[in-house]
Amino acid sequence: MIIARSRQELQAALDTKRGSIGFVPTMGALHIGHRTLIEAARRENETVVVSIFVNPTQFLPGEDLSKYPRREEADFKICELSGVDVLFYPDVAAMYGSDEVRVCAPDVRGFILEGASRPGHFDGVLTVVMKLLNMVRPSRVYFGKKDAQQLALITQMVENLFMDVKIVPMETVREKDGLALSSRNVYLDEKQRVEALKLSAALKEATKMVMQGNLDAEKIKEAMMNLLKPLDVEYVAVVNRQFESLKEVVIGNTIVLVAARVGTTRLIDNVWM
Ligand code: AMP
Repeated sequence: MIIARSRQELQAALDTKRGSIGFVPTMGALHIGHRTLIEAARRENETVVVSIFVNPTQFLPGEDLSKYPRREEADFKICELSGVDVLFYPDVAAMYGSDEVRVCAPDVRGFILEGASRPGHFDGVLTVVMKLLNMVRPSRVYFGKKDAQQLALITQMVENLFMDVKIVPMETVREKDGLALSSRNVYLDEKQRVEALKLSAALKEATKMVMQGNLDAEKIKEAMMNLLKPLDVEYVAVVNRQFESLKEVVIGNTIVLVAARVGTTRLIDNVWM
């Protein structure tokens, strides 16, 4: 595995490769969710590139940028064992200069739900993804459905800006008890870890209601809110794949989402139906 720390090193590493490139952008503290993305990239491409970069522009002032988990050694090992060919591991100076052009999230879809809770977050996400895609120039790029709104906005950016890359959405990987894997789960103590199960339990209830024919979005959200008590819920939402709010679930075109704080840790989860 080649470790590239600058654009020049990345380019030199890619120059030695032929065929399709599968790319998995991450912020590190890798877990099995990340690994399933890497494994899919490994199956479907000649060359696999993973980036690890804790992107400062997607964190708001007061968020967990400085304490975001960093696990350099373990992450390198996981990449090596997963058959990664090139690990791109830049520092901030390799990615950003001063007074730069940025990508703007769309006015509506970019500023609801996650975008309302974290205004500016998606500008940072889209900007760094644009930079990374331009540097790696992959055939396919892999994103988790766990970050559903991020996936939708990146898909929209690729369409709106006529970018030439295939986006491969990947299912959310969960612990046996339902908790969606997240690098932020390390912030949870034992008691909070149990509380955090309320998110997946609420989504399970939403799925159950829909399977029983209860498609009313308000009723689903109400049932979810009851199960989420006493967590500090930022939103529960029922939207279509374009992130337009739905009054009724449309099977095959609905995402039910939740964001809540467990202690000071902000968790998100969703189910696609
Ligand atoms: P992150 O390191 O949190 O920025 O995540 C990097 C990529 O991994 C993103 O595309 C995430 O959506 C994806 N990802 C994170 N958690 C999971 C999970 N539990 N299952 C599947 N993909 C995930």
